Amino acid sequence: MTIMPIRIWGDPVLRTPCDPVTTFDSDLRRLVDDMFETMYDAPGVGLAANQVGVSLRLFVYDVGDGLKGVVANPELELSEEEQVGDEGCLSVPGLAYNRRRAMHATVTGQDVNGEPLTLTGSGLLARCFQHETDHINGELYVDKLDRDERKAALKAIREADWAREPSVG
Ligand code: ZN
Repeated sequence: MTIMPIRIWGDPVLRTPCDPVTTFDSDLRRLVDDMFETMYDAPGVGLAANQVGVSLRLFVYDVGDGLKGVVANPELELSEEEQVGDEGCLSVPGLAYNRRRAMHATVTGQDVNGEPLTLTGSGLLARCFQHETDHINGELYVDKLDRDERKAALKAIREADWAREPSVG
């Protein structure tokens, strides 16, 4: 297994909606293994394929308590009930901001073999499903922060030594 470099804020692959997964073969299984390895090494609780430069609608997650897996071609259904809590991102390293999310999420998609799957999560797992699905749609969690949090986040990103975008916001 290979630890892959994680793409950082400013990399266009993070802003490009990913392509559907259509081929479920040994290459895909190898990619999933490498994504798990990369996520655990970081460490993080979720990782989307475009965070390692592969523009496919695919993510892996492990939020603990045995709640781990892989989802290809995810579609989300969200509760109206909300949660607000700290959220961070391996592609926006070292920062965390309060992000409003649905409390409960159901994700439908396919597993690594292409078989249909449906998963339901609450709290951190629901947050993770939403965060990773945003990634493969080309969004980052800082895009939809409440106003003051967003201001603080963009300032911190501007000042971060890893920031590559000359102007943010
Ligand atoms: Zn992220």
